[in-house]
Amino acid sequence: MYDFVIVGAGFAGSVLAERLADAKYRVLLIEKRNHIGGNAYDHYDEAGILVHKYGPHIFHTNSTEVYTYLSKFTEWRHYQHKVLASVDGQLLPIPINMNTVNELYGLDLDAEGVSAFLAERAEKIHPVVTSEDVVLSNVGRDLYNKFFKGYTKKQWDLDPSELSASVTARIPTRTNKDNRYFTDKYQVMPLHGYTRMFENMLAHPNIHIMLNADYKDVISGISYKKMIFTGPIDEYFDFRFGKLPYRSIDFKFKTFDQEQFQETGTINYPDDYDFTRITEFKYLSGQKHSKTSVVYEFPKAEGDPYYPIPKPDHAALYQKYKRLADAMDHTYFVGRLATYKYYNMDQVVAQSLMVFKKIAGLDQVVKS
Ligand code: FAD
Ligand code: UDP
Repeated sequence: MYDFVIVGAGFAGSVLAERLADAKYRVLLIEKRNHIGGNAYDHYDEAGILVHKYGPHIFHTNSTEVYTYLSKFTEWRHYQHKVLASVDGQLLPIPINMNTVNELYGLDLDAEGVSAFLAERAEKIHPVVTSEDVVLSNVGRDLYNKFFKGYTKKQWDLDPSELSASVTARIPTRTNKDNRYFTDKYQVMPLHGYTRMFENMLAHPNIHIMLNADYKDVISGISYKKMIFTGPIDEYFDFRFGKLPYRSIDFKFKTFDQEQFQETGTINYPDDYDFTRITEFKYLSGQKHSKTSVVYEFPKAEGDPYYPIPKPDHAALYQKYKRLADAMDHTYFVGRLATYKYYNMDQVVAQSLMVFKKIAGLDQVVKS
């Protein structure tokens, strides 16, 4: 008899398995893929270069709790991600900052000058509701058209005006020269990769792992008390209210017989080509190798569900599923797919730690 069956061995499932096992519960972790780690899984490709199978994963967080927790399972390497966008034949820093504005328009503005430049162009929009509103109200139409409109259309197959504000709000606007993609307090990569970190997390005698198994095919033969589900919530409920839309991606990997392919970790292509971006893994890992591997991301509608699509009607549909989920006593829904939230890794870890506290607290109440 297991205390918990956990479906999915990504961040949500693995953090909860580790926490529960540490609290002496017996856990069965069921994963339909042939590996742990969920979408953060990494491995060495044929050339011996560490690559991320489901697209580039860069860890960043402001949460000391999350950073300290994960530090039990990995050492880190400091890494500050930088992204350039290919716009009008130039490679320019994104998020938009002083360098972007000066290089794009051939200017030499200081921070105040950039502020005034953007304020003059920013459109007055109240309230800010969509992803288009966010960008137009920060930087105006020209920068919106050049950096956001095409990229967003490719990534989501939607115009920014159809997407919730939270999507483009992920990308700040700066008036200083900070070219980093993130400004979080902790910007680190697991020194030996994500998969190794997950292996360390799950190496506990109270955790049994079943790979290559869809839980629906095996669950009837397992005796357990409670379930934690981290897959798509609509699938759990057999699509009772219809499908929740998720965006998928084709990842095309290439290895080049040269030490370096591009001048920074990621280059975004808002306007040209069918792919959104190219990421070169050696920047992320710090690995030294005479060859280099990159991944091109081609967004698509069908395929593995990678991104919930933040849009008001999707949020309303999710709420219907959430009401079913909330009414269940012994099943918890956690993670990016099960709570239909465009979460980064650290947010999923934080959510999972919170759910653990809730479960442990509830259990004490029941036991006492
Ligand atoms: P997942 O990792 O999706 O894990 C869910 C697991 O459940 C999967 O392994 C799945 O196979 C399994 N599963 C589903 N259904 C079943 C079933 N029926 N039976 C058994 N198993 C099942 N975050 C960052 O912080 N930084 C980044 O740079 C970053 N880049 C990203 C790039 C891409 C292209 C993508 C797609 C995501 C990125 N993320 C990034 C987000 C990050 O991947 C997620 O926040 C995190 O991996 C979510 O963890 P999870 O456990 O919720 O879900
Ligand atoms: N975005 C954009 N142009 C860019 C970078 C981002 O239009 O050069 C928009 C786009 O809609 C994208 C969103 O901002 O989906 C969030 O970008 P982020 O890099 O955070 O996406 P992720 O890494 O999660 O795919």
